[in-house]
Amino acid sequence: HIAKLLRAKSQILVAFGSCANEGCIPGLANLSNSHEIITTAFNTVSTDNPNKIYPQTSYNMPEGEIHIPTIYPVLKTLDQVVDVDYYMPGCPPESHQIAAVIDLVIQVLQGKAELPPKGAVIGAGNSTVCDECTRKRNVKSITSFKRIFGQPIDPELCLLEQGIPCNGIATRSGCNARCPTAGAQCIGCYGPAEGVVDYGARLITGFASVIDSKDPDEIDRILDGIPDPTGQFYRFNLAGSLLRAGKSAWNKEKV
Ligand code: SF4
Ligand code: SF4
Repeated sequence: HIAKLLRAKSQILVAFGSCANEGCIPGLANLSNSHEIITTAFNTVSTDNPNKIYPQTSYNMPEGEIHIPTIYPVLKTLDQVVDVDYYMPGCPPESHQIAAVIDLVIQVLQGKAELPPKGAVIGAGNSTVCDECTRKRNVKSITSFKRIFGQPIDPELCLLEQGIPCNGIATRSGCNARCPTAGAQCIGCYGPAEGVVDYGARLITGFASVIDSKDPDEIDRILDGIPDPTGQFYRFNLAGSLLRAGKSAWNKEKV
C-alpha cells in the first residue's frame, strides 16, 4: 500500500538501497513461509514468551480496533510491486554516492544536466568490485575454501585466490572495494554487476572456474568449505533473483 501511495505521489521513484532493489537480508525470509517466520521469531532461545503469544494483525483497544500490516507470503522488491524509475544499490549506499546523486539532481534542476534514462542504476559503477580492488591476482585456481578468521591472510593478495569466498567478481562496483581493502571479503551488498541476470548463478560460475580439480569427490570436498551456500550466493539478492523464493514460501503465496 505504501509503495503504491509513494508511486502515485512521485514524479520520479528511486529504489534506494539493497532492500528496495533486491530484497536484501529480509529477502532471506523467502526461504520460509510466514507462519514459520513468526513462530520461529517468537520462539527463539532468547525470546521470553512462555505463553506463546504471537502478534495479531488487529486488536480491540478501548479506543477502537488497531491494525498492524500483514506479513505477505513472499517478500518482493520495489519494482515487483510498482514501476521504478531509477535504482540505487548498496547496503547502505555509500555516502559519496548519495552526495553525487544529489549533486546531479541539483544540476538537473538548474538545467545544467539531464537525468539518466529511465531504469538506470545511479550512484554506483558499471563494473565489478574486483575492478576497483587493488589486491594482486596471481593464482588462477584454489584447492579449498576457508573462513577468513583464525588464519594468516596475505594483506596484498586477492582473497578469493587465498580460498576466502569473496563475492567481488559478481558484485557491482561503486564502493571503492571497501571490504577487501579493509581485509574482509566482499559479501555482495551492491548487488549484481552490470549485465548480470542472476547474482547467485554468476557467483557460482565464478567460484567454479577457480576450483582446481576435475574429480567430483574432490570438488564436493572443496565446496563443503562454503558452510552457508544460500547466504554466500543470495544473501542480498534472493527476492530479486530468478529463484525469488523457496518452495515453502511459494506454497503459501496467495496471488
Ligand atoms: S575477489 Fe575480492 S579480493 Fe579478489 S580482486 Fe575481487 S574483490 Fe578483490
Ligand atoms: S566490498 Fe562488497 S560488501 Fe563491501 S561495501 Fe563493497 S559491495 Fe558491499
